[in-house]
Amino acid sequence: MADQYTGGCLCNSFRYQFKTEPQTVYICHCTECQKISSSAFGMSVRVNSDDFKTTRGTGKLIKTTADSGQTKKVLFCPECGTTISGKPNSGSFIVVKAGTLDNPNWFRPIAHIWTKSAQSWFSFSDGLPKYRQAPKNKDELNRLWLNYVSETK
Ligand SMILES: [Zn+2]
Ligand SMILES: [Zn+2]
Repeated sequence: MADQYTGGCLCNSFRYQFKTEPQTVYICHCTECQKISSSAFGMSVRVNSDDFKTTRGTGKLIKTTADSGQTKKVLFCPECGTTISGKPNSGSFIVVKAGTLDNPNWFRPIAHIWTKSAQSWFSFSDGLPKYRQAPKNKDELNRLWLNYVSETK
């Protein structure tokens, strides 16, 4: 646990912080996360919207449609293009892209979601729960996170 969590984009013109612990942290293999991360999967850190503060610069917002069909707003740095976060139209959280955190070891994921579109070479060898799509119960990932946190205390 840190006093506060900070992060930013590649060129450092966009910076943010949040002070509360995340609601959950997971790996997402959906095709949107593959595009947005320009890589094989995304690592998502759900943070209370009220707690997420921009401390430098102004991000640019684009609207996207997730594999679930839900629309959301994605925030990225207009200078270097690093994706910072996504915000679903429903829900009171922001999904921060873990790769933008200043310390990559602050959090670890508790599940894999959207495994049906995972890249074929990926081997799920960490024993974490897997979901073919997003869990039907919206609180499922938060519950897994709380279990993990209470076990590591
Ligand atoms: Zn930047
Ligand atoms: Zn995704």
